[in-house]
Amino acid sequence: MEIKNAEFVSSHADVSKCPPPDKPEFAFIGRSNVGKSSLINMLTSRRNLAKTSGKPGKTQTINHFIINSNWYLVDLPGYGYASVSRDKRQGFGKMIEQYILKRENLYCLFILIDVRLEPQKIDLEFIQWCGSKEIPLCLVFTKADKLTRNQLNKNISVYSATLKRTWSELPSLLVTSATEKTGKDDLLLFIENALAD
Ligand code: GDP
Repeated sequence: MEIKNAEFVSSHADVSKCPPPDKPEFAFIGRSNVGKSSLINMLTSRRNLAKTSGKPGKTQTINHFIINSNWYLVDLPGYGYASVSRDKRQGFGKMIEQYILKRENLYCLFILIDVRLEPQKIDLEFIQWCGSKEIPLCLVFTKADKLTRNQLNKNISVYSATLKRTWSELPSLLVTSATEKTGKDDLLLFIENALAD
């Protein structure tokens, strides 16, 4: 699939105010600074569709974009950053939970993972929680350019082995680098296949 057209639609903190769930939707989430905005910009070939920022936790709304007039790409707030008060950090944030549980047109949630790090508790907990709610998901490793091929394979193996302790079947895994623009075709193909199902 080629993304010919990508337009901002809306930005809401309240799920009920999001656009009507009348089109397939693919959402992106991850810890702050994981590279979510960069990945969305790479996917859509736009420099600044999703706002990249040095300041963790800036996106605190659910941002909808319409792609090729027929599906929604959603930029969700990051979870698990330290500068937010304890209260807000409990769970993954009500807004995120409500969105994930209520959005009936959610075809797939892409959970972004910084491939340089060993499996982080908050990511594992989030993946586990999504699994328990039977949310269709795909793990997207980011910043692959920062590792050698060997380190990359090793880190992905460690992640897979960690997940296998609790998952009988592993979710799909994709590897990307927004800097080197790799993994874009795989991600778009994944979306294309999900749309065709
Ligand atoms: P977000 O907070 O998840 O939206 O993350 P951003 O997209 O704003 O990226 C956070 C930081 O990571 C920025 O300094 C980016 O330049 C950097 N970054 C994002 N993606 C990549 C990548 O694929 N490779 C490298 N080397 N850096 C990246």
